[in-house]
Amino acid sequence: MTPLERALRERIRTEGPLTGEAFMEACNSYYYATRDPLGAAGDFTTAPEISQMFGELVGAALADVWARAGRPANARYVELGPGRGTLASDALRVMRSAGLVPPVHFVETSETLRAAQKAAIPDATWHEHIEHLPGDGPLLVVANEFLDALPIRQHVGGIERRIVITAGQLAFDRDGEIVETSPARDGAVRAISERLVALGGMALVIDYGHERTAPGDTLQAVRRHGFTPVLVNPGEQDLTSHVDFQRVGEIAREAGAVFSGPAEQGPWLERLGIMARARMLANAAPERAAEIEGARARLCRPDQMGSLFKVLAISAPEWPTPAGL
Ligand code: SAH
Repeated sequence: MTPLERALRERIRTEGPLTGEAFMEACNSYYYATRDPLGAAGDFTTAPEISQMFGELVGAALADVWARAGRPANARYVELGPGRGTLASDALRVMRSAGLVPPVHFVETSETLRAAQKAAIPDATWHEHIEHLPGDGPLLVVANEFLDALPIRQHVGGIERRIVITAGQLAFDRDGEIVETSPARDGAVRAISERLVALGGMALVIDYGHERTAPGDTLQAVRRHGFTPVLVNPGEQDLTSHVDFQRVGEIAREAGAVFSGPAEQGPWLERLGIMARARMLANAAPERAAEIEGARARLCRPDQMGSLFKVLAISAPEWPTPAGL
């Protein structure tokens, strides 16, 4: 039994059944605090860890919008849940070549990942919450696979599904058609949207999920690059759920921001020029041509990350609309 499972069982015994939200919150805080889960040796691999092309095209999209917004000198780069800082390094390199060298602000709760981020971007500033970001100057925000890690609630027939101990095991107390909501995710989208409306700027959000609100159980656990049962090994596997992009759009609009997308990741990367970028990299390093093409295919193909992953932008009303969406 994992140390966290022991603590959760004790909590259920003393406080009663746990909501999915409390369970996911506890598991993911522990999980991210105690490891770097990314890459081949970890549990899952994200787009920026597959290829530098991903972060470069994100950087190009942000630099383009910034240039068309009149090149505001006080713009900041903000990333939510920046992992190892790989996306930021690749994006900032491209932004620099476009004349954009913004101060960097990271929102990250894991000390382990903060250390990795510090090695990649030594002069970044770290924050615990979106609310602590600076309140002056436009923001260029990136969130890749951030919203999916925030806790969700699940309801069956209007009743919240909870976790109990049955026959000595953690188990859900009811099954049936599941409706998911995520106050934490809604809160993050609202906080970013309100800031963008007040300060100017744009957020690019990339994640997996569905374009329309629909019932369904999307809570999933991943360990060593494979799916595992969600209630097993609490704190030792990555718990995520699909993002409801319709809901994200509704919240952004309620806050007065402009919502663009969602677009599928593959076509979006193609519209931003991933083919040309892959050819350039392969010409510069012919011995890596097959690897570069493999990475491009993994990011873009509909049977890999190209279709399930979606890209959307939330913009301040007076800001130009982003390319590719
Ligand atoms: N964006 C990175 C990492 C994705 S993993 C990439 O694409 O590689 C999720 C990231 O979000 C991790 O950095 C994790 O520590 C962070 N995270 C998870 N929950 C968080 C929370 N509530 N607040 C801030 N960061 C969080």
